[in-house]
Amino acid sequence: MSECQSWRLSDSPHDELHQPGECAVCWVECHNEVEDPRYPRCRSCYESLASSPVGWVRRLLINEENPPDYVVAALVDDGNFAVAGTARWHAARRPSLSPHHRPDPPSVSSTPTGTGATSVVETDEYGDESDDDGVGQW
Ligand SMILES: [Zn+2]
Ligand SMILES: [Zn+2]
Repeated sequence: MSECQSWRLSDSPHDELHQPGECAVCWVECHNEVEDPRYPRCRSCYESLASSPVGWVRRLLINEENPPDYVVAALVDDGNFAVAGTARWHAARRPSLSPHHRPDPPSVSSTPTGTGATSVVETDEYGDESDDDGVGQW
């Protein structure tokens, strides 16, 4: 079993802009065992990050290469369009998740994670996100 390498939001964060690895009050390291070796985090970390009230936290999570199905499912209806759009993109590629919306028609765009795979993603309706804030290592 490997150890979860995630940061997790502490119970008493003092500023939602503080980033993991930079503020030891807002973010603490998790050392739980990872239940599913396909993922770098334990389920409890994924669930707490996916339910974070902070938009950029959810967006980083859903922009990872391979978020678990339950994270994708939790975020397809997210109030943040960028988060919901990316979650739907993941959902559309997973037979185990039935997307709420029709499969995206082929269109040429980049993938949110840059996996190098040939894939289609529809981003136009969600607008361009230009506020990537360069969060470093988790
Ligand atoms: Zn802080
Ligand atoms: Zn964890």
